[in-house]
Amino acid sequence: MRRILWFRRDLRIEDNPLLSLEGEVLPIFIFDTHILTKLPSHDRRVALIFTLVMRLKKALQSRGLDLKLFWGTPEAIFSHLILLGFDEVAASGDYDAYARKRDTEISRMIEFHYLQDTYIFAPDAIHKEDATPYRVFTPFYKKAKTLYTPDHAKSFSPAEQKLIQTDYEGITLYDKDRMRKLACRLESLGFTPSSVELPDPQSLLEALPAILKEYETRRDFPALGATSHLSVALRLGMLSIRELLRFLARQEAAGLPTQAFFRQLIFRDFYAYVLYHFPHVEKENYKYPFNGIEDKEAYEKFCSAQTGVPIVDAGITQLLQTGRMHNRLRMICASFLTKDLLLPWQWGEAFFARHLLDFDTASNVLSWQWSAGTGIDPQPYFRIFNPYAQSKKFDPDGRYITRWLPQLKELTP
Ligand code: FAD
Repeated sequence: MRRILWFRRDLRIEDNPLLSLEGEVLPIFIFDTHILTKLPSHDRRVALIFTLVMRLKKALQSRGLDLKLFWGTPEAIFSHLILLGFDEVAASGDYDAYARKRDTEISRMIEFHYLQDTYIFAPDAIHKEDATPYRVFTPFYKKAKTLYTPDHAKSFSPAEQKLIQTDYEGITLYDKDRMRKLACRLESLGFTPSSVELPDPQSLLEALPAILKEYETRRDFPALGATSHLSVALRLGMLSIRELLRFLARQEAAGLPTQAFFRQLIFRDFYAYVLYHFPHVEKENYKYPFNGIEDKEAYEKFCSAQTGVPIVDAGITQLLQTGRMHNRLRMICASFLTKDLLLPWQWGEAFFARHLLDFDTASNVLSWQWSAGTGIDPQPYFRIFNPYAQSKKFDPDGRYITRWLPQLKELTP
């Protein structure tokens, strides 16, 4: 069997189902111009992904394999690759609208072998008694718990694989019918390096037992650093979800509480599941036709941390400076944009999508729809987070606010 192994959101060699398939292989990564040409040249995520791709290439080389790099549209690249004669392309599931359209087009050119990797459950593995998909998280979570077995955490062992020899060196660009070879540098793609901190999944796992002890009671307080910070590693597949589940099982066996944390992982699954079954919610309200008021000035102020509401401006400042934002802050800022400024949730979603290092269409869109009250869940449109009450409750001594807005230090009680 001759296979293309297409790495996308699984940038690791450990516990990767792609490496468990025996035979002759050509591992590839595509810098997709459908996505990249829309991004600014200083985009932090592209710099991060580029570094991870180069690491993956080295790790594969140490196993006698390699990672061939391409720059262009997946359709153009596959239309050339298939001329080398392959039996199939194997890739892990990716379920947003663009990913599904892309994969459907490629599956018309070559046999497509989907693997289950990114999430705990395949998107069609859970359904109601009447075989329709769940729309509400709590019953989905209950069902997921009853269906979950240790098999969901089973590791994939590497198989015997032989690299198919090709002359793809550097970054191969297909421009219409011309092939060009570019140097393996971020600048070759038109992006500039940026000083983004690389997550280290193993040290984050080492820190997790201490976090799990009080996760349920401390996770909502942004100044405490009481969450795992694993979202970027999970988003880019630097850490296998199964390795995390095995780690959690060991912590549970050692007597640590893990259920509250597991519940959040199921939230991640749930959002991917909802987007898979109800793809139109990526752009449209699921309920209520109110689409917001298009006030560009208010939006500019929100996006530049100039609203005058300290907790909101602190959250946006953290996002702009680091590409990260605590979950409580994401909820407060999203509520403020949709319920106080009455702006379209799609504007807020697009702003987060531009800046979040862990940006994931499913989690981002559905969390924004939740905040706007327009989503699939029962969250009503009239439930509003008061940002000042939220500050008092979750940042009582102003530590989070003054970390990001030090100019307010003298004003804290
Ligand atoms: P932890 O609390 O340690 O949770 C562990 C893991 O569970 C996370 O890494 C994440 O993968 C998952 N998780 C936790 N909370 C949620 C949640 N509410 N929804 C879905 N998954 C969750 N998360 C993203 O990964 N990408 C996004 O683009 C994204 N956009 C969001 C937008 C808004 C408006 C809101 C309110 C939330 C968004 N989230 C998003 C969910 C959540 O804020 C982040 O996953 C979390 O802050 C990541 O920090 P952590 O890894 O320390 O989380």
